[in-house]
Amino acid sequence: MATQQPAETIAGAVDDLEYTVLARTSHTPNIIELELAPADERLSYRSGQYVLIGDPDHTLPVRSYSLANATNPSGRISLLVTEVPGGEMSTWLHRGLRIGYRVLVSGPYGTFVADPGADGPVLCLAAGSEASLRSGRSPKTPYAALALNGSPCCSPRARRPM
Ligand SMILES: Cc1cc2nc3c(=O)[nH]c(=O)nc-3n(C[C@H](O)[C@H](O)[C@H](O)COP(=O)(O)OP(=O)(O)OC[C@H]3O[C@@H](n4cnc5c(N)ncnc54)[C@H](O)[C@@H]3O)c2cc1C
Repeated sequence: MATQQPAETIAGAVDDLEYTVLARTSHTPNIIELELAPADERLSYRSGQYVLIGDPDHTLPVRSYSLANATNPSGRISLLVTEVPGGEMSTWLHRGLRIGYRVLVSGPYGTFVADPGADGPVLCLAAGSEASLRSGRSPKTPYAALALNGSPCCSPRARRPM
């Protein structure tokens, strides 16, 4: 179950960790998944949290993106990014960023996280690119996801039985 955790129980945020783009996958005409690997220090986070993404030259405004995968030994993180017409950061992430490029990751932020004490089924409700929460679950936890707006969560591949 996702619960609002007190801020003091959430790990502290760190600024400007360097991550390298490992993969870029199109899920819909306007949503891509970016897989990022830590260049050095890695982020410690909990499912449900988000990060701030910046460009290495600090020329673009930083923007918030939800972490779309569960923590894993490699330290890799995934983001699902919707391209916003005229949007500075999302347009760069979609059209400027290439495999091997660096981005700056700050965080984690957010206190609406998975409850580590809950061992029952989890129902996740998400909309748009926020449906990334579908894959931020514990791998052992059964769940169902209901998504809106043609997000990748609606694809047959993303649906799982309880
Ligand atoms: C907690 C949180 C989590 C989020 N998670 C995700 C996520 O997982 N995936 C995701 O895709 N997004 C997520 N977002 C949204 C994301 O942070 C950005 O807001 C989004 O990517 C747009 O940023 P941008 O820089 O591309 O657009 P912006 O440059 O901010 O532009 C946004 C819109 O405003 C218009 N605009 C900009 N400036 C002007 C102006 N001067 N006059 C008129 N119009 C203007 C632009 O044309 C555009 O349509 C999240 C946001 C929050 C707060």
